[in-house]
Amino acid sequence: MKGYLRQLEISLAKLPAVGPRSARKIALFLAENKTALIALRDICNDVNQHTIKCKICGLINDEELCYICSDNKRNTAKVCIVQNNIDLYAIERSGAYDGLYYVVQQELIGENIMKRITEKIISEVIVAVAPTLNGKIIVHQIFNILSKFSVKVSELAMGIPVGAEFDYLDSETLSAAFHSRVNGVKE
Ligand SMILES: [Zn+2]
Repeated sequence: MKGYLRQLEISLAKLPAVGPRSARKIALFLAENKTALIALRDICNDVNQHTIKCKICGLINDEELCYICSDNKRNTAKVCIVQNNIDLYAIERSGAYDGLYYVVQQELIGENIMKRITEKIISEVIVAVAPTLNGKIIVHQIFNILSKFSVKVSELAMGIPVGAEFDYLDSETLSAAFHSRVNGVKE
């Protein structure tokens, strides 16, 4: 392909989970289906203009306070620390957890969450990161930060394969890992 179509193909191939063949297929489909192309352009504009990170947990959504943080039926005594939005959705899908979340950003634990830990509103922190090298570093850093506070810290137990992405785990595996979470942090 050449010209604009080629540029579209290159942009699409940069997206996660889209290989070069899919990128070409999607580019040609969009060029041949202008209604779908325009709808996609419009929703991309909306996402660009209107999505923000929730000011408490960091989940990307349309509101300053996401649907989880503003849900008063959630258990506000628990916070689950995840590495990204995809992992948060994977845990939500498993149905194993009813507390709040924090998505790791520049800060390993957000200001609002730290405040609630010091005020003892949060009594349990569950670190739910995949057991990759980076994940293990995060676990230890969080444990170090929280060792000064009287808060229960646990991490997900067995069943999570090394290097696994939560999104590829079935809900039962994730659910089992949640229910058998271990206190303290494994060495
Ligand atoms: Zn939130």
